[in-house]
Amino acid sequence: MIYLDHAATTPVDPEVFEAMAPYLQAEYGNPSSFYKIARQARGAVEEARERLAAYLGCQPREILFTGGGTEADNMAIKGLAWARQDKGRHIITTQIEHHAVLHTCKFLEKQGFEVTYLPPDRDGLIAVEQVAEAIRDDTILVSIMHSNNEVGTIQPIAEIGRLCWDRKVRLHCDGVQSLGKANLKVDEINVDMLAISAHKIYGPKGVGALYVRKGCRLVPLLDGGSQEFNRRAGTENVAGIVGLGKAIELLEKRGAEDNELVTRLRDRLTAGVLERIPAVIPTGHPTQRIGNISSFCFRYIEGEGILLSLDFEDVCVSSGSACTSGSLDPSHVLLAMGYPHEVAHGSIRMSLGRHNTEAEIDRVLEILPPIVERLRGMSPLWADAVRRGEV
Ligand SMILES: *Cc1c(COP(=O)(O)O)cnc(C)c1O
Repeated sequence: MIYLDHAATTPVDPEVFEAMAPYLQAEYGNPSSFYKIARQARGAVEEARERLAAYLGCQPREILFTGGGTEADNMAIKGLAWARQDKGRHIITTQIEHHAVLHTCKFLEKQGFEVTYLPPDRDGLIAVEQVAEAIRDDTILVSIMHSNNEVGTIQPIAEIGRLCWDRKVRLHCDGVQSLGKANLKVDEINVDMLAISAHKIYGPKGVGALYVRKGCRLVPLLDGGSQEFNRRAGTENVAGIVGLGKAIELLEKRGAEDNELVTRLRDRLTAGVLERIPAVIPTGHPTQRIGNISSFCFRYIEGEGILLSLDFEDVCVSSGSACTSGSLDPSHVLLAMGYPHEVAHGSIRMSLGRHNTEAEIDRVLEILPPIVERLRGMSPLWADAVRRGEV
């Protein structure tokens, strides 16, 4: 199998698994209890918190562990909106956010909040000026992702952060895709809140964290015990948190080297596709993008068809759209970037990881052109384009 869907999830690193195992077995204490195995569990949770805090350049008390990236986004956006609604009810976000942010904003609209969804340009970029123009007296929150999960474009978060600081508006950033691939030091990217997830960085699924700047008030999503500084009730996912901590440690140890390899392979893949296959549009910003995502629209055919044909060859990729995600609409990200429906339907995302090899990339470059050619051979749109002399 050739796995090129690391933006969807990653395999748990063996070292992460090993670090977690004791906390699923012998070290089963509840961190809130008062005896040796409980103290051990508490120690492990706090060690992970310190490691993540050091990695992000913040205080351990500013880290809240959650049940993943989705929960961290919900906690930040709903929590801040509910805490500051006396000051205003206007929120700014973008049209290309992950559904964890978009659907949370839609939910708040039903509660009477007003949301501005900024459109990106053709490369998927949001301009600082767009944010500046959208901020009003009653704006309480700006939520913009660090990098996009479908096309990889990195937003100018540090400048947006400076603007928000000047205008006294809080900035939340979905940093899930950028973790380990871009600088997320919170004082360098100027964010008040930052959501991350473990399973995109070779950690376990169902655990993540939200960085919350000291002094930033949030109404908790969950009521119950006093865990996570009274801000996220429920017995801690000790093994998951330990796994997240270990995954961060591995990023520190080998992240730079991994990124170098992955970016080199990604560039080989992108160049190879464009060289070997006609009528392909590379999507996302050409340079301001994370290093592991290669994304395209293949004209005149459906991304679904490519995905299924590649699956038959045991190659895992993602199409930003349609049947597999239970909806007939193409990717909301590509539509927002200005691609027409018929072009967006041809989208494919390939996202690389630390275990991919040059031989795997070359194998994909070998099997992809005939797949595209075969699908186009069955496509009336392609036949029309040929007749019109477009291709
Ligand atoms: C994967 C992802 C999420 C959701 O994280 P989960 O841990 O799967 O809930 C949120 N935002 C982005 C950009 C993602 O890629």
